Amino acid sequence: MKSILVTGGCGFIGSHTCLSLLEKGYYLFVVDSCVNSSDQVLRKLKNLSIINFKLKYLKGDLRDISFLRRVFEEAKKCNKPISSVIHFAGLKSISESIRYPLEYWDNNVIGSINLFKIMEEFSCRTIVFSSSACIYGLTNQTFINEECEVKPTNPYGQTKVTIEKILKDLFVNSLSEWKILCLRYFNPVGAHHSGEIGEDPIGVPNNLFPYISQVAIKRRKELDVFGSDWKTIDGTGVRDYIHIMDLAEAHLAALEYLFDKKKNFLVLNIGTGIGTSVLELVKIFEKTNNCKIPYKLKMRRTGDVGSVIADNKKALAILNWSPKRNLEDICKDGWNWQKNNPYGFQK
Ligand code: NAD
Ligand code: UDP
Repeated sequence: MKSILVTGGCGFIGSHTCLSLLEKGYYLFVVDSCVNSSDQVLRKLKNLSIINFKLKYLKGDLRDISFLRRVFEEAKKCNKPISSVIHFAGLKSISESIRYPLEYWDNNVIGSINLFKIMEEFSCRTIVFSSSACIYGLTNQTFINEECEVKPTNPYGQTKVTIEKILKDLFVNSLSEWKILCLRYFNPVGAHHSGEIGEDPIGVPNNLFPYISQVAIKRRKELDVFGSDWKTIDGTGVRDYIHIMDLAEAHLAALEYLFDKKKNFLVLNIGTGIGTSVLELVKIFEKTNNCKIPYKLKMRRTGDVGSVIADNKKALAILNWSPKRNLEDICKDGWNWQKNNPYGFQK
């Protein structure tokens, strides 16, 4: 079975994807600095995949190029050369990126350049990259397809566009054959159904779903609903929420799609194509989990947009994949994780 390098494998999306890859029998090398995660998650992965736990964790930062070289050398030495990479590692907070732009350019872009250099050095040229729907910026279109203009409104989004551009340059200009898939995620939420792994934001959650979960577990008093005057069904913001395990499975499909290809560069939206407002999500969470989520209507959040929904037709047509879980599954599984782990991995 092939060996895959998963950068950022201790994070939210990375850890759930590792589980899907392990279940399929892949051998994994996980690299993470744990700047925004805990390696305790690997213990949970081990418990969940007793039979197929073929994973080597190497703690380190992508900005350390000699560390990266050692990872690829070690894989080669133990006769498990890295065939391909799923590249999750990066900082991901929009507001933080506005406050600390240099940190974001340095971490996300320099880290990625180092990774691509070492991949080239070891003739490993197959990569799935974590991009984001936030690169589309403000748009009037209800459903966003991959042809929509890319004009991010913040440094985080700019770093994602830049990395996509670097990958495109590699594809177009390298003498060797790169196989590249950039996945533009919409809103990944929920948790693995076991309740063993899930999202564990550090500090006050920026995102809606973990905030709702923390209100439900009474770590937070009430939810602030940012904006009730958008042109949406009930005035609150609409997003395309995708179950984290559907997203994990999209990575498996993306990787296996690339294995069969020659030179390739592709950008795909990964979402459900279904829009849900803040108040709709609150209601489904309450009904599914038989709980109350107190909330207050507040002013719009700076930089927010009213509605962001994926046109996911391209991904459905190209990958042998489609999202299988609905909002009830998202709320049930997300709550199961939060209930079992009120303070995440640490406590
Ligand atoms: P996360 O913070 O949980 O995971 C990212 C992981 O990368 C963390 O474990 C972090 O410690 C690690 N990391 C960061 N910089 C590193 C570096 N220089 N070297 C080594 N490790 C490093 O985030 P996530 O939600 O799992 O997101 C994964 C990827 O998907 C990110 O690139 C993010 O930008 C992108 N993305 C996330 C969302 C979302 O809503 N979660 C949406 C769109 C895109
Ligand atoms: N939101 C909210 N309260 C919160 C966090 C988010 O009302 O505490 C709203 C936000 O304004 C947006 C939606 O929930 O309309 C999704 O926000 P999130 O930050 O989760 O995703 P993003 O805006 O990055 O797509």
